[in-house]
Amino acid sequence: MTRRLRLAVPNKGRLVEPTVGLLHDAGLVFEAGERALVARVQNFDLEILFVRTNDVVEFVNDGVAELGVTGLDLVAESGTDVPQIRKLGYGRCRLTIAVPNDSPFRAAEDLAGLRVATSHLGLTRRYFEARSIPVEVIPVSGAAEVAPRLGLAEAIVDLVSTGSTLVVNGLRPIEEIFASEAVLLANKGAVRDRPDLIDSIETMLSATLAARDRKYLMMNAPMAKLSELERLLPGLESPSIIPLAHEGMIAIHSVVEADRVWSLLPRLKAAGASGILILPIEKLVS
Ligand code: AMP
Repeated sequence: MTRRLRLAVPNKGRLVEPTVGLLHDAGLVFEAGERALVARVQNFDLEILFVRTNDVVEFVNDGVAELGVTGLDLVAESGTDVPQIRKLGYGRCRLTIAVPNDSPFRAAEDLAGLRVATSHLGLTRRYFEARSIPVEVIPVSGAAEVAPRLGLAEAIVDLVSTGSTLVVNGLRPIEEIFASEAVLLANKGAVRDRPDLIDSIETMLSATLAARDRKYLMMNAPMAKLSELERLLPGLESPSIIPLAHEGMIAIHSVVEADRVWSLLPRLKAAGASGILILPIEKLVS
């Protein structure tokens, strides 16, 4: 008998909440215990392993888990070719070269012969080597942003999302070397031997993510206004048009991007729509 599929996810840090949130939104029922290493999903043949963010790639690569969620930066840092099933759209950040505000450096080339402090050794070394810029990479285990102030390095390479940590530490970015976000990984053997199961998880997460970005709009309108309203509503395909009891009146149903809803509403009203309803979409498989 094959054992349950295993999904390794971070047990601490900034990827925990969005990852557990995504799995719950996907309808998986499990308890994300603080200390539990393993959670059994009650309504799906899946076990969730809570491990360090840094260990997810290794767990998936070694086959301890068939699937995993972690940062793309950590996959790249590991240098492994573990299959990437899909990006997940959260945990976005950029591995960035930054220097003190008052330094003269404007580009990576200006750092030739100088020291760069980072905890992202592999990506940093590869970046400077690929550009034939000789730098001394100074390994730090965290808080690289204090290295210039301590006189340890002239520049740092660190992950940046809003950039506020750089500002607080008197640093400015000069170059982005890698763009990261959370990613769903799979073990090579599992991709080969259990593609249907990997596919079902992929579809589940994709449908959940796609639904988050969209709203379902329902409205009434005079039939005569249809073409004008249709131009405002480029939904997934064409909108559904349903005749109403009152002659000449129709209901229009359409899927629109969540970000567009508020700017769309006044234009729909101006074009003759009334009784507009905005509904959440639970899952969307296109
Ligand atoms: P953790 O150190 O466990 O909080 O998670 C680190 C991972 O979160 C990184 O490997 C990135 O993939 C991701 N991440 C997203 N934004 C940031 C950020 N501003 N700083 C560090 N890591 C980030």
